[in-house]
Order: sequence, then C-alpha cells, then structure tokens
Amino acid sequence: HAKSAGGGVFAGYRARMRDGLIERLELESDLRAALERGDLRLHYQPTVDLATHEVVGFEALARWSHPTRGMINPIEFIPIAEATGLIVPLGRWVLHEACRQAVAWSEAAGGRPLKMSVNVSVRQFDQPEFAETVAAVLAETGMPADRLCLEMTESVLMTDTEANLEQLVRLKALGLTLAIDDFGTGYSSLAYLRRFPVDTLKIDRSFVERLGVLDDDTALTDTIVRLGRSLGMATVAEGIEEFGQLAALREMGCGYAQGYYFSRPVPAAEAGRLFLEGADIPA
Ligand code: C2E
Ligand code: MG
Ligand code: MG
Ligand code: MG
Repeated sequence: HAKSAGGGVFAGYRARMRDGLIERLELESDLRAALERGDLRLHYQPTVDLATHEVVGFEALARWSHPTRGMINPIEFIPIAEATGLIVPLGRWVLHEACRQAVAWSEAAGGRPLKMSVNVSVRQFDQPEFAETVAAVLAETGMPADRLCLEMTESVLMTDTEANLEQLVRLKALGLTLAIDDFGTGYSSLAYLRRFPVDTLKIDRSFVERLGVLDDDTALTDTIVRLGRSLGMATVAEGIEEFGQLAALREMGCGYAQGYYFSRPVPAAEAGRLFLEGADIPA
C-alpha cells in the first residue's frame, strides 16, 4: 500500500516535472519567435527628481505581448531568456529600442535631456563584447552616452571581481552611468562600492515598503542614502506607493524616486505624453 502511494506521488511529481518542462520548452521557442516577430514591448516607468518634482527619465521594462497568453511579465520570461542565452539578443533589442525612444522623445521636446535606464542581466554583462555592443547601440541610435544608465544587481559586482572590474571600467569609459539595482538585498561590501565605478544606488522596494512602519527599515534606508551621499553617488528609491514614504525619503535627502505613487510602468505612447506634456506628478 505504502509503495503504491509512493509510486503515485512520484508519478504525479514526474507528470508535473514533464508538464513544467514542456511548458518551458514551449515558452522558450515562443520567446525566440516573439523576438523575431517583434512581439516584445517596452513599458516605461518615470524617474522623478525629488527636489524639482520633474520627470527626468524613465526605466525601460520589458513586456511580452503573447498571442494567446496575453501580456507576460518579465519575472516569467527573463529567467527563461537567461537560462537559454536568448537574453543576449533580447537584451540588445531592449537597449536599442530604449535608446531609440529616448532620442525621439528628447528631440520632440526640443532637445530636453532625458535619462534612460536599462536593466542588464549578469549573462549579458559576462559577454566579453558587451561594452562594444553598447557602444554600437549608442552609435546606431545617436543616444548621448551620458543619458544612458545601465542597471545591474549586486551579484554582477560580487562574482569574479577582476574581470568584472575591467568590464565596468570599459563601460564607464563610454561615458554612461552605472546603477546598482535592488540595492540592499545582495551582499556588496563597502569595499566593492568604493572600488567599482558605480554612480547610482537604487534602494530596493522592500526597504521603501516598510518605511515608517519598521524602525529598522527606516534606519537602513536612511543609512543607504547617507552612504550614497558620502560616496558621491545618487540615490533612487524604488517602489514608492504612498505619500508617507515620499515624505520620509525627501527628508532623508534621497535624490530620485520611482513608484506607483507617481506612475506605473506605462506603454510608450503614454510615457511620451508624461514627458512631453509635463506629467501631473503628485506632490
Ligand atoms: P527592477 O529592475 O527592479 O524593476 C522594478 C520592478 O518593480 C518593475 O517590475 C516595476 O513594475 C515594479 N514596480 C515599480 N514601482 C512599483 C511600486 O510602486 N510597487 C510595486 N509593487 N512594484 C513596483 P517588472 O516590470 O515586472 O520587472 C521586474 C524585473 O524584471 C525588473 O526589476 C528587472 O529586474 C527585470 N527586467 C525587466 N525588464 C528587463 C529587461 O529588459 N532586461 C532584464 N535583464 N531584466 C528586466
Ligand atoms: Mg531596474
Ligand atoms: Mg530594482
Ligand atoms: Mg526590484
């Protein structure tokens, strides 16, 4: 009896494994086709300057408009793209499209500068020719390098440090800015922060979420803002949803913020209106 039950459980497990695998393979070939057919989209979330309340730029966030499954979020397909290596051409597309769009908006606004942030996976960053790819995209789109920000997680800074340092130096030499995404969730040490040519700390949403609720998170956020200031780095708070969080961050001297409180990530047409017509950004 026990044996058959175990077999049953195991068969069920195998079936789920198989279904999961089939779904993954389907998604992988669908994603490859989507990239070729042009079914990927970028949504844009504004970055707000907390001193002036102006939209100074956007973060480009990938979306997959799937023919039968609808809009698929990046947490579902970026890991697949990373595991299969598809992230390399996909990431190049994202970079190109985000830069092209930034140049178009800036031109439409009479040359008003616009900062565009693009997320970069470790797998992309690890390509020896990554800096050349970025340089090529800047040249193709006419994007001024200093208006591009590449966001990377702390894991990029933590692995194989010598090679990574060289890669970061090559990227910095192009004239762009580098940000650490989801800062505070990884393990980057203060020594790395000083050693690597990073310009911006993006304070992870999990700290912002509990601002004013948990004293520890409030203290940590304050510490990150101070750390940024003393290292000459800009600080961007992620995931602001409420006025209280905004007020606390402004009090701490955090420079920039993103979050649903200001705007969700929106399709290009809407983001263009936000930038060109002057957003009605809540105070
Ligand atoms: P991320 O770079 O940390 O982006 C911030 C995520 O938080 C976005 O989710 C955004 O929609 C969400 N968010 C922004 N404000 C708020 C808020 O106030 N409240 C809440 N609850 N969430 C907020 P999204 O667009 O689903 O992206 C998830 C992650 O997928 C990104 O995290 C990034 O790591 C990755 N990703 C997105 N696009 C790309 C891409 O083109 N390339 C790579 N490599 N990764 C990407
Ligand atoms: Mg990001
Ligand atoms: Mg983030
Ligand atoms: Mg995040």
